[in-house]
Amino acid sequence: MKAPKGQRMPTVFIGHGSPMNAIEENSYTWSLNKLGREIPRPEAVLVVSAHWLTKGTCVGCAKRPETIHDFYGFPNELYVIEYPAPGAPKYAKSISELSQGEVRCDLDWGLDHASWAVLKHIYPKADVPVFELSLDYFPGTFDEKPVRYHYELAQRLAKIREEGVLVLGSGNAVHNLRVADFRNVDAMPYDWAKSFDERLRNALLSGDDDTLIDYRTIPGADLAVPTLDHYLPMIYVLGMKQKGESLEFAHEGFQNKSISMRSFIIR
Ligand code: ZN
Repeated sequence: MKAPKGQRMPTVFIGHGSPMNAIEENSYTWSLNKLGREIPRPEAVLVVSAHWLTKGTCVGCAKRPETIHDFYGFPNELYVIEYPAPGAPKYAKSISELSQGEVRCDLDWGLDHASWAVLKHIYPKADVPVFELSLDYFPGTFDEKPVRYHYELAQRLAKIREEGVLVLGSGNAVHNLRVADFRNVDAMPYDWAKSFDERLRNALLSGDDDTLIDYRTIPGADLAVPTLDHYLPMIYVLGMKQKGESLEFAHEGFQNKSISMRSFIIR
């Protein structure tokens, strides 16, 4: 079902976890299948990617974005996956305009696994145009932008939802690879991970964006969010929320002991 013209598209945040999810079938991938059936068919998908980090913010303007296999040490099966969705240069241009030029057009980056490992389960035919937004973020640099900067940039870009574009933040609300258990995807999560995730859940449900922006005040933040790359895509989705909209979880749970797969839709 296509969205009627001018109607605002929902916006979603997806916890993507390990690239292995691209080729697995589990409760999480079923939640993604369901989401694909539930959301009105968009004109294009804008993925805010945890895996595209740049100085300044970029938007993908390529007509035919390449599938990027941006990970190491995984089975060959993952490296041959292609996700041949077309790009959406027209909407990429709209993004750049909404930002008054602050977001610049990029022709080199394609679709990294924050896009295709997720979209493979939402739009398996790769027949919806996809383009990405990068994060102006380099861990440990001196000019790191505050979280609020990203939230406010998203607010400025939110109008894209009215052009039939599905904005999809792809990251993880809790993401600590250093202590992850890669041998057991279903391992019981750490206590600190669970309690941080629970506090985050409550803040999401009550619309307490300030707590989510100042996430360091939540106990366990240092372990749950050791770097911002996977957390920020969620902040963009929150910044896109409009008055009167509500949030609903599309998936909850952990993988690999330290990765929250919490995903939600705002409409
Ligand atoms: Zn990731």
